[in-house]
Amino acid sequence: MNINNEMINEIRNKVDIVEIISNYIPLTQRGKNYFGVCPFHDDHSPSMSVSKEKQIFTCFSCGATGNVFTFVADYEHIGFYDAVRMLGNKVGYNLGNSKITKNKNDEAYNIYKLSTKFYQNNLNTNLGKNAMEYLEKRKIDKETIKKFQ
Ligand code: ZN
Repeated sequence: MNINNEMINEIRNKVDIVEIISNYIPLTQRGKNYFGVCPFHDDHSPSMSVSKEKQIFTCFSCGATGNVFTFVADYEHIGFYDAVRMLGNKVGYNLGNSKITKNKNDEAYNIYKLSTKFYQNNLNTNLGKNAMEYLEKRKIDKETIKKFQ
């Protein structure tokens, strides 16, 4: 099946950017928008906002912005059309195999990456207060926390 603009719009209408992005990074709802740690820069507090209404993401720190396809493409390091195919297949289109080649350990690495982001994310919130106090007691400074996550 060929991918044209009409199909890209159809797929975009069928997927929810909040749902897709939360498969990659934990998102917290604040008002109308959702927030998470930005995967496109060295972020340590949630500076990326995801709008359900506009179906876009924006990072207030590094300026990364785009729609569901550009997020998946940038995150997975794949091309735009591969991201369209990947998301299209998810919502019932048969767009064939994309060129995504996955290492068999990728899934495990992704789980580690996700949990690291999750804990890093919470470290700067109320949930991380005890952990922060512990790190301070052990004289582990902010730079070291950042460096070794
Ligand atoms: Zn960013």
